[in-house]
Amino acid sequence: MKFLITAGPTYEAIDPVRFIGNRSSGKMGYSLAKAVAEKDHECILISGPTKLEAPTGVELILVESAEEMYGKVVDNIEGVDVGIFCAAVSDFTPVKISKQKVKKKGKGTWSIELKKTEDILGSVRGEMNFKGVLVGFAAETENLESNAKNKLETKKCDLIVANDVSNKEIGFNSENNIVTIFSTREDPLALPLMTKIDLSVVIVEHCLRLAKILINDE
Ligand code: C5P
Repeated sequence: MKFLITAGPTYEAIDPVRFIGNRSSGKMGYSLAKAVAEKDHECILISGPTKLEAPTGVELILVESAEEMYGKVVDNIEGVDVGIFCAAVSDFTPVKISKQKVKKKGKGTWSIELKKTEDILGSVRGEMNFKGVLVGFAAETENLESNAKNKLETKKCDLIVANDVSNKEIGFNSENNIVTIFSTREDPLALPLMTKIDLSVVIVEHCLRLAKILINDE
């Protein structure tokens, strides 16, 4: 099977030295890629800036911005059986990138006009015509179940891996996570506190099982 995984944050440039980013460490996406490679499956990992090393046997494609990540997904989606969209993609990007470093002037405020970025996961089924197993992530601070179920439908995913990011013990920079896997075919699976490595093995197994069902359905 061939997997494509997005991971990490995106950096949206404001000027040559400044950017808008987020606290994603990339650990979840890199752990997933490691779990895929250890099962001897092919894996393309499209990653925003992180401090992590590519797991052995994984093809790493580094990007910075949401726009670049979108482009690399378009370039690599053909022939993929399972797409796992784990990256914390910036929802907004500056309308204009200043060519020169913006100087601080007399006033105490600075407004940066932002525009929405492309929803990469939301474009995979439609614009990119992806037919494989599609997995999205949902980081929520409230209404986990209804938001996750809504994402299953609107983004046309087979699975949504949802976690409550209001819990400071887990999530963004942590080695551990507590997630519930929502599926279009099965009841939600609420998993206990697990390391991101162990969790990745469970998610990858879920994906492989679904991919086999889809192939048999064809
Ligand atoms: O809509 P929301 O950002 O909460 O959805 C999260 C899911 O969508 C994650 O799987 C994330 O990787 C993906 N996403 C994306 N492109 C965006 C925003 C989110 O692929 N621009």
